[in-house]
Amino acid sequence: MKKNIIITGITGQDGAYLAKYLLNKDYKVYGILRRNSNDPFSRLDYLRIRKYVDFISLDINEYKQIDLIIRKIKPKFFYNLAAQSFVGYSFDNPTYTDTINNTAVINILESIRLSCPKTKFYQASTSEMYGDIKFLKIKKLNENSKFNPVSPYAISKLSAYYYTRLYRYAYKLFCCNGILFNHESPLRGEQFVTKKIVKGLIRFKNEGKVLYLGNLYSRRDWGNAEDYVKMMYKIMQFNKPDDFVIATGKNYTIKQFVNMVCDKLELKIKWKGKRENEKAFDHKNKLVIKIKKSLLRPHDVNSLLGDASKAKRLLGWKPKGINSLVDDMVKHELSL
Ligand code: NAP
Repeated sequence: MKKNIIITGITGQDGAYLAKYLLNKDYKVYGILRRNSNDPFSRLDYLRIRKYVDFISLDINEYKQIDLIIRKIKPKFFYNLAAQSFVGYSFDNPTYTDTINNTAVINILESIRLSCPKTKFYQASTSEMYGDIKFLKIKKLNENSKFNPVSPYAISKLSAYYYTRLYRYAYKLFCCNGILFNHESPLRGEQFVTKKIVKGLIRFKNEGKVLYLGNLYSRRDWGNAEDYVKMMYKIMQFNKPDDFVIATGKNYTIKQFVNMVCDKLELKIKWKGKRENEKAFDHKNKLVIKIKKSLLRPHDVNSLLGDASKAKRLLGWKPKGINSLVDDMVKHELSL
C-alpha cells in the first residue's frame, strides 16, 4: 500500500516541486489547499501533477480541521511548507504572519503528538532566522550559528523552529527543521526579488517600462528549488530526526543578480549614482532600474551565506552554481 503524505503549502513553489518528487516515488500525496487561494493550480498544472494529488481545502489556522485530517489520514510524513512567506508583508501584518507561521505549527505538532505520534514532521525553517549577523566573526552560517531575527517573518519562523525541536526532545517525536537558504526557480512567486528582476527586465526590453527595486546590496545565497526539495525528502529519510542547513555556500548581491540576468538577455546597462539614487540605464541612456524607497525594508538582512557541510557529509548534498538557475528562470519567462 502507498504511504500517505500530507503537504501544506502544496500550491507554492516548494510544495509543487516536492509533490512532483514524492509522486514519482509512489507516495499518496494529500495537499492542503488554502480556501481563499487566488491562483491555486498554476504551478501544479505547469508540472502536470494536479490530477494525481488529493486536495483538502482548509486554512492552516483551522486547528480542529487539521486535527481531524491528521487523525483520518494518519500520514507517514507531514511536510509543513505553508507560510505567509513574504518578509516585506510581515512588517505590515505581524499578527497574521505569526498565526500562520508559528501558532499553526504548534497546533499541528500537538495534533501529531496526541493522535499520530509516528508521523514524521518537516518544518520549513529559513535562513532569515539568522537575521542581522554583523556581530558574528564567521560569516558562513551553520546549524550552530546564533540567530538574530529582524523581521516578523523571521521571528515567527524561529519560534516554530524551536517548537519543532521541543517536540523532538520533550516528546521524542520525529521532527526536523530544514534551514533552507533562498531558493528560486521558474515557479518562484512574483513578489520575490529574483522573479521580479527577471520579469521586470524582460518587460523593459519589450515595453520600455522601468523596474523598481529596493536595497541593491543585500547579499543572498541563492539555490535551485528543485534541488532543495530533494533535500527535504532526504532530511526525513535520515536515520534520526535532526536540523540541517541547505545552502550553496556562495552569495551574490541583488545588483549582481540583475547584471547576470541582463547578460542572459543581452541587455547592456550602466549603473550611475549612489545609494538610494543609484539607477541603471541602457545603451540609449534610457532609465531601466530605479530604487523605490517604499521597497526598502524597515530592517534589512544585509548578507546571508550558508555552510551546508553537515548536509554534504550526512545527506550527500551537492549544490549547483547560480548560473543554471538564472538561465532556467530567464528561459522560462521568455517562453511565456
Ligand atoms: P510560497 O511559494 O510563498 O508558498 C507558500 C504556500 O503556503 C502557498 O501554497 C500558500 O497558499 C500556502 N499558505 C499561505 N497561507 C496559508 C494558509 N493560511 N493556509 C494554508 N496554506 C497557506 O513559499 P515557498 O517559496 O514555496 O516556500 C515554502 C516554505 O519554505 C515556506 O514556509 C517558506 O517560508 C519556507 N522557505 C522558503 C525559502 C525560499 O527561498 N523559497 C527559504 C527558506 C524557507 P496560496 O498559494 O493559496 O497562497
